[in-house]
Amino acid sequence: MELAGTGGPEVLVPATWPVPRPAPGQLLVRVGGCGVCGHDALARRGALAARAGAVLGHEIAGRVVATGFGVEDGWLGRRVALVQRIPCGVCADCSDGLTTLCRQGPGFYGEDLPGGYAEYVVASPLNAVPLPEGIDEATGAILSCAVGTGLRALRSAGVGTGDIVVVTGAGGGVGVHTVQLAHHFGCRVVAVTGSPDKADELERLGADRVAVRPDARALRAAVGEVGGRRGADAVIEITGGPTFATSVRALAPRGRLVLVGNTEPAPLPVEPGLMILKELRMHGSAHADRGDLAEVIDLVLAGAVTPVPAHRWSLAEASSAHSALDARTVTGRAVLVP
Ligand SMILES: [Zn+2]
Ligand SMILES: [Zn+2]
Repeated sequence: MELAGTGGPEVLVPATWPVPRPAPGQLLVRVGGCGVCGHDALARRGALAARAGAVLGHEIAGRVVATGFGVEDGWLGRRVALVQRIPCGVCADCSDGLTTLCRQGPGFYGEDLPGGYAEYVVASPLNAVPLPEGIDEATGAILSCAVGTGLRALRSAGVGTGDIVVVTGAGGGVGVHTVQLAHHFGCRVVAVTGSPDKADELERLGADRVAVRPDARALRAAVGEVGGRRGADAVIEITGGPTFATSVRALAPRGRLVLVGNTEPAPLPVEPGLMILKELRMHGSAHADRGDLAEVIDLVLAGAVTPVPAHRWSLAEASSAHSALDARTVTGRAVLVP
């Protein structure tokens, strides 16, 4: 499926491409599943760099069916989950282990190189992690973005047992897993969602309180109810603009806000006085890296987090999956299966 232009779900149209040939050091992966991310919807609407002819999809798992020159034995025939960016492996950032910052490699699926709304993608041992028996490819597809993003954000917030964590966009693909992970790490979790019908599911996944479209006062009250009289220790901000101002007001002194999502790209209002007097800290967290993805797989096998792949659509139904995403009727992550 490719973009015929930018706009509504109907711009996703079938297309035929030659099967890519893996370059030296690369893997050819037959796609077994590809997650449908909010990022894809932004790209489809034209809010990101993707243009007509782009093949979206950066949440990919499948089987290695060919390898380029120089790839070690052992990859061919393996089932793998992929990180959404292929790094170069040699630049200064890669050398420091900061592969999410690499801009020298093949890049990000769906933007720099054709993505997973397709039967085949190229990959690399630098962005692939073997998928164990017991995790199917539709589930494996969502592990890096929908689960690993939250893991990385929680780690960067430095949360631990007893901390109070607010998760916004909690009913979405990243949110449902961030709630589970925070619960697993022993945090008390306040889940913020725009959809009242997702509340029961969020409580089942480990949320101690669910706040539906709270204003600043209601969110502080929810945080107070789980013991956070001074506010929340951390906010994992997955929606960005729509909830940001409310989230900041829910933070305790020295609270951390980690920006993960940007659903309505626009500048955010920062109140310097609040930041200064409460010594708040705010930083971004990008996608998972290969180490995060490997840890996610271990956490899934240990039962600490249960991936929530929502409805599965066939690849040809990509526009239906996007319509459902636009209508916010998807709990968890929609997956396209070829
Ligand atoms: Zn994604
Ligand atoms: Zn690099």
